[in-house]
Amino acid sequence: MIILPAGVIEKMVATASRALPREAVGFLAGREATAESVVELDHIGDDRRFLVTPQSQFLAERQIRQRGLSILALFHSHPDGGTHLSPEDIAFAARQSWLQVVVAIPSADPSGYRLGVWRVQERRATPVEWMREPATSPI
Ligand SMILES: [Zn+2]
Repeated sequence: MIILPAGVIEKMVATASRALPREAVGFLAGREATAESVVELDHIGDDRRFLVTPQSQFLAERQIRQRGLSILALFHSHPDGGTHLSPEDIAFAARQSWLQVVVAIPSADPSGYRLGVWRVQERRATPVEWMREPATSPI
């Protein structure tokens, strides 16, 4: 279960929208089950898969720690794709303990996005419940 405030969803979708036609990738950081912050990661790779640069991941993890938050999920976008993880995504996620969030984003209409939240264990992805919360304060 992960709680996604409306402001976090908006920022994540804006990040994915800006990256089009490429994928965007980043961390969702927060406390307990509630995401509070979206931290975009630089990545290299083509539009079919991504590879996060170690420098970018290091800086993001430090920034998150310094703010007293922890990493809840890694998100990435699927331009004109679905909300399921690809076999490559599952292989990439196998070494991580974070949840995986997929933002399926139509390039012709980014507002038509859909979200998928997954937990990957032993090379299998299972859906995770998530809840949208109305924003009570600006992110
Ligand atoms: Zn993917």
